[in-house]
Amino acid sequence: MADLSTDVRYVKGVGEQRAKALARLGIHTLRDLISYFPRAYEDRRTFKRVIDLQPGENACVRAMVAAEPTLSRIRKGLELVKLRAVDETGALDITFFNQAYRKNDLRRGETYIFFGRAEGSLLRKTMANPVVEREGGGTFTGRIVPIYPLTAGVSQTILMRSVAQGLAACRDQLEDPLPEEVRLSHELCHVGYAYEQIHFPAGEEELAVARRRLVFEELFLLAIGLKKLRRRRDELSCAPWADTDLVDFYAALPFDLTGAQRRAIGEIAADLRSGRPMNRLVQGDVGSGKTMVAAAALVCAARSGFQGALMAPTEILAEQHYQGLAPLLERLGITCGLLTGAMRAKERREVLARLADGELDVVIGTHALISADVSYARLGLVVTDEQHRFGVAQRSALSAKGERPHLLVMSATPIPRTLALIIYGDLDVSVIDELPPGRQKIDTFAVTSAYRQRIYAFLRKEIAAGRQAYIICSMVEKGEEVPDERKAVTEYAAILQEKVFPDLRVAYVHGRMKPREKDAVMAAFAAGERDILVSTTVVEVGVDVPNATVMVVEDADRFGLSQLHQLRGRVGRGQHKSYCILISDNRNEETRRRLKVMTQTGDGFKIAEEDLRLRGPGDFFGRRQHGLPALKVADLSCDMALLKEAQGAAEDLLKRDPELRDHPRTALRVAQLLEVNADAMN
Ligand code: ADP
Ligand code: MG
Repeated sequence: MADLSTDVRYVKGVGEQRAKALARLGIHTLRDLISYFPRAYEDRRTFKRVIDLQPGENACVRAMVAAEPTLSRIRKGLELVKLRAVDETGALDITFFNQAYRKNDLRRGETYIFFGRAEGSLLRKTMANPVVEREGGGTFTGRIVPIYPLTAGVSQTILMRSVAQGLAACRDQLEDPLPEEVRLSHELCHVGYAYEQIHFPAGEEELAVARRRLVFEELFLLAIGLKKLRRRRDELSCAPWADTDLVDFYAALPFDLTGAQRRAIGEIAADLRSGRPMNRLVQGDVGSGKTMVAAAALVCAARSGFQGALMAPTEILAEQHYQGLAPLLERLGITCGLLTGAMRAKERREVLARLADGELDVVIGTHALISADVSYARLGLVVTDEQHRFGVAQRSALSAKGERPHLLVMSATPIPRTLALIIYGDLDVSVIDELPPGRQKIDTFAVTSAYRQRIYAFLRKEIAAGRQAYIICSMVEKGEEVPDERKAVTEYAAILQEKVFPDLRVAYVHGRMKPREKDAVMAAFAAGERDILVSTTVVEVGVDVPNATVMVVEDADRFGLSQLHQLRGRVGRGQHKSYCILISDNRNEETRRRLKVMTQTGDGFKIAEEDLRLRGPGDFFGRRQHGLPALKVADLSCDMALLKEAQGAAEDLLKRDPELRDHPRTALRVAQLLEVNADAMN
């Protein structure tokens, strides 16, 4: 039975019942089963004599059951089986909770291996709920065992047994998707060995060898898949746009663009002339001036006779873009409209009509831009700002409103280039790696709440000097319910206003406010009519108030580093010296280290790399938003070197055999991968 697509219920020892339980883990076929990799391992190789057991350590003990186990029912729902096991050095008292069957299972006078955590004292040693195996068993004790992610109804034991059976059924006949020459030249082990050892490693070294091969395989197939996608895209065509003269655009700006901004605009202009739909990511740190790059692209669209849409993730940001760009664009004779969910029906209808009949050249808005009732006369360019906030689906929904429009994605999340290749799949990347001149370093401090009074005094001083401050209020982070959010913000703002700063003007915003109210508060803050803005992370993205110089973040440990970096980017946007104060009473060493990173560098790329290293890409980008296919073994935070190697190998192979004609097994697996991830990747 080597066919990997065999239903898992036909695997020996699995059967109907277990197959149902396994299905809940996404395991349907034999291939799924053997590809269900452990999330961790437990080293159960250490054997100890009872006398040598140290409280708190995990170890195997070979011991004989000295007396009949006893069963007692302490109360409803709590049954204890107790027994004493001995070796030649001492006695170990073992307790099982709610495992009544152990009473008859374990026989007096027989020797077993018990694996567990030793407790008690040096005089009386105990162990609770140990793993038990007959002497010589060697399946669950005396070795490294896999630990699988579980679901109700599937235990580690069931999984281990099922996987072992599955492997036995197909191990010697596994087809290798890696071409033999690639496998050999990169010194990778056999596929069968890799599967065997990733589940049941003989030792650390064997595990490392297996893992390296599987990671390589995964990244190699992914790299080929992405290159194929990209090739497919290169075959698309559209009418090339004529070269646009941007001289008057440059002249209308209040500043000179930086070299990096000009370079990005140049790359975009070349895409637009190429006769192929653009698919470009502009990546630049907060404050690097991405908006002007977007503006230049919008000018190109209008001058080429197309409409351009700029989609921002929040009302505030859409509005701010509109306020900033509309006057500039209109001065160049380009008509500009705003479309958000907060607009009155009448205004909205008017904008929709002007869009549909082509009177508007540019529209700026929130995801209101992709509502079903929005239609465009000739949408030629789609720009999404702060893209990690948008799902791929939203991006393509907007694209679908035009005929293969050019796509420009702006992201303030700096990511290492190699990773960008994977995360953004087939996008081309422009990096804005230069800040506008005159920016000052934002002094950053990580402190405990013991500093609160000093912080308030500092805020007072800055405000007396005419500046403004943000205070980001503790709230439950992503995923959790948010009733807290409103309460946290409003209550904190009220306390500040009444007790701390009765003479200052304290305002607040949170995500639950009506967009209109929120906008009004933001506008008042931006106009300098408020001194302190208490807020949730709604100010995280993009908002621009150059007079604000202090960013205080409460419970800073709750945020990811990249998010803190975004928050910090709200200050230091004008000519005044700015500060960021991160408050956290969390004493966890890892937490302190993370916050320290913030105080040491202002470089978004470094912070992103650190974030990636500490939290992994999943958390970093928000699960499944970014189109990153689920990686089973590879961990992009530490497998960077291997990623490069795999990408290189993929490139070489495609050079030799572009259609993978001589490598049907590789071709098949890549096709499967693209099928599974088709939505995610394009
Ligand atoms: P981000 O990349 O974070 O979106 P913005 O586009 O919001 O950055 O720009 C940040 C601030 O810098 C804005 O106030 C913008 O007007 C200003 N700015 C952008 N480009 C330049 C430049 N070349 N010289 C000076 N200031 C600039
Ligand atoms: Mg921006």
